[in-house]
Amino acid sequence: MPGTHYEIAAHDVHAHLFEVRCTVPHPAPDGQRFRLPAWIPGSYLIREFARQFSDVSAEARGAPVAIHKESKDTWRAAPTSAPLTVIARVYAFDLSVRTAYLDATRGYFNGPAMFLCAEGHERTPCTLDIVAPTGDAYARWRVATTLAAESVDARGFGRYRAASYDDLIDHPVEIAEFAEVTFAARGVPHTVALTGRVDIDGDRLARDLQRACEAHIDLFGGTAPFERYLFQVTAVGDGYGGLEHRDSTSLVCRRDELPRRDLGAPNDEYVNFLGLASHEYFHAWNVKRIKPAAFAPYDLSRENYTRELWAYEGITSYYDDLVLARSGVIEPARYLELVARTITTVLRMPGRRRQSLADASFDAWIKFYRPDENAPNATVSYYTKGALVALALDLTLRIGGDASLDDVMRRLWSRFGVRDIGVPEGEIERIASELGGDAARDIFARCVHGTDDPPLDRLLAAFGVELHLRPAASANDRGGKPGAAPSPSAAIDAKVASDMRIQHAYRDGAAERAGLSANDILVALDGLRATPDTLAALLRRRPGERVRVHAFRRDELFDVELTLATPVADTCYLTLVVDPPPRAAMLRNAWLGSA
Ligand SMILES: [Zn+2]
Repeated sequence: MPGTHYEIAAHDVHAHLFEVRCTVPHPAPDGQRFRLPAWIPGSYLIREFARQFSDVSAEARGAPVAIHKESKDTWRAAPTSAPLTVIARVYAFDLSVRTAYLDATRGYFNGPAMFLCAEGHERTPCTLDIVAPTGDAYARWRVATTLAAESVDARGFGRYRAASYDDLIDHPVEIAEFAEVTFAARGVPHTVALTGRVDIDGDRLARDLQRACEAHIDLFGGTAPFERYLFQVTAVGDGYGGLEHRDSTSLVCRRDELPRRDLGAPNDEYVNFLGLASHEYFHAWNVKRIKPAAFAPYDLSRENYTRELWAYEGITSYYDDLVLARSGVIEPARYLELVARTITTVLRMPGRRRQSLADASFDAWIKFYRPDENAPNATVSYYTKGALVALALDLTLRIGGDASLDDVMRRLWSRFGVRDIGVPEGEIERIASELGGDAARDIFARCVHGTDDPPLDRLLAAFGVELHLRPAASANDRGGKPGAAPSPSAAIDAKVASDMRIQHAYRDGAAERAGLSANDILVALDGLRATPDTLAALLRRRPGERVRVHAFRRDELFDVELTLATPVADTCYLTLVVDPPPRAAMLRNAWLGSA
């Protein structure tokens, strides 16, 4: 039976409109129903993609067929026995990696935001025609996607096929004039398709990504689970994000995060980019193939709950930077700097005492993806704390004997990922406990189901790594290094933006106790105009001193008395012990590879 056929074309680049057609050869006799996903796998928020659909019509053999909406994201056509085509215009002007974009510089789309799913035809193979835009301006546009090509021209326009609707929507498509960097990792061709105004050292990028990709492949046994892999990279002035797929990833990064031709050792910006690419690449195993049973299959019409998102995002966040160190792309000391920054980020979230990682996973749909001014007080990030728990598990398994988190991942891979079986809730904990016994079980009880911090100071010490804590040296101090400037002697326990607006007033802190809240605008401190400089001067005074603070809440001026607090030592840096004891040296070598 012929499957559903799709066609996508740029309808009007300046209006940012694609035209998408979906043809069902044998529509349901009582009226074919179509549904658009409400969310995209990898980004756990109901996004209502149907908001961007307009001018929806249907036809059969050239004659119009009535079609009406049954709910926010479903349509039903009148009964017909002839092949039925639904036509829609889709507005595409979102620079994120989650939906779609179209202007005179590039086109990009994700299937869930564009392609209607014909009810009853979800599992049948389908085809997609990607139509080349007409006009000289687009003569150099090409297609970059991992969809299987059936008959395409030299630029990649033409017909593609997919095994099912789920397969169709897991291959985002870039249509643009793009730069291309290629390399092989363990024999598998990899392509980086770069859009945006970039001038980079492509050889350097290929070399570093190749080393990282090979380390990932080796971790899972040396054979990649895909026949080719594509990094779709869009460089912009300011932006950041990535989304994982089975055979590809879409990344948005800042232009200055890509390697210049004269770059020596990787700078912070480039390490940030490599970490993002490494993160999404690891997801090709962890979450795209080793996936929660709750996602097998995805129900794209509503929230899919799991209490283990922390393992899929946190373990991935742990390995993204670790693999850069293991493969020698960054030095071990640099890696420890990144770990210390993650520790700092987590220590600055009072919400980690109120929300467990399991609860944060479950509530991602309403909390993590919808942060507000109270988020640091009420929630924990399953990315950052999840990465620290992954680190704690890895170190625990290594101290306990001849195992590591690598072994947990390999068991998940061989028992579930390779076999395409969803991982039941609790299975990751069971496997970690098989390998690490009570010590591993204890970390789950205290740091995953409970709200304890992972005991990293004790664990790292066994690897000849010392954990140090100090107060922040300034508002921009992210941790990772010993403080250069003298630390402030006092604190107001609030995060204040450069326009003197309070972004967060931390729970049980000095600002909150004084009656100050997020979004208040500081006007004067002890009678002097509030500026970043007068605030910094204030923080050089002694804890316990009282300060008169004038502020606006909405348009109402008020004043309060604030008692300066003692700064919290929430800023972390890690140091390698020189000449550690032999067992610590052995453990450290095994953990960091080239250490
Ligand atoms: Zn991720």
